[in-house]
Amino acid sequence: MMRTSSAHEEGGERLYAIQTQEFVGDGDGRVAALRTVLVEQRIHDGRLSFEPVGGTEEDHRAQLVLLALGFTGPERSRLLEDLSVEFDARGNVARNDHWMTSADGVFVCGDMGRGQSLIVWAIAEGRSCAAAVDHWLEGRTFLPAPVTPTDQPLR
Ligand SMILES: Cc1cc2nc3c(=O)[nH]c(=O)nc-3n(C[C@H](O)[C@H](O)[C@H](O)COP(=O)(O)OP(=O)(O)OC[C@H]3O[C@@H](n4cnc5c(N)ncnc54)[C@H](O)[C@@H]3O)c2cc1C
Repeated sequence: MMRTSSAHEEGGERLYAIQTQEFVGDGDGRVAALRTVLVEQRIHDGRLSFEPVGGTEEDHRAQLVLLALGFTGPERSRLLEDLSVEFDARGNVARNDHWMTSADGVFVCGDMGRGQSLIVWAIAEGRSCAAAVDHWLEGRTFLPAPVTPTDQPLR
């Protein structure tokens, strides 16, 4: 959905399917430009990725850069550090088929393990993870497990 707020109406150009590759300095500690490249959407092994399109590099002059990032993965907090959990290739907390992280007895579900997603996944993962924890503690479980850690949305 293309939304235009009053802030957009004040001016500026919106660019899509573009990725910043580096900040170019002015040689004196200040930013002078953003170096970007256009990206294309690809799906590898069911996972979405954005790949640079060769020959589309461009510099955009800049004196100030504001970073407005969301969905960048779990915060590398002291908690995760102290638990020594491992991360997957996407920067989320890695887990096995039974929702357990690399730290024995530590389980992960929801955005922390799946990556940014939807409430329905968080609920389904939470219930399934609860069943896995119950099984780990009791050796059996009667709790429902609607999804597995590797389930993907139907396309
Ligand atoms: C801006 C935004 C808009 C969204 N819009 C939608 C939408 O429209 N529809 C939709 O389906 N999904 C939406 N989502 C995604 C959805 O909110 C998440 O997928 C979902 O909340 C993930 O649930 P979770 O339980 O895994 O994690 P969270 O909801 O993030 O819950 C994690 C909880 O753990 C707590 N916590 C963190 N560290 C500690 C600690 N050390 N000790 C104790 N507690 C801790 C946090 O405070 C938090 O309450 C949106 C997300 C964002 C950020």
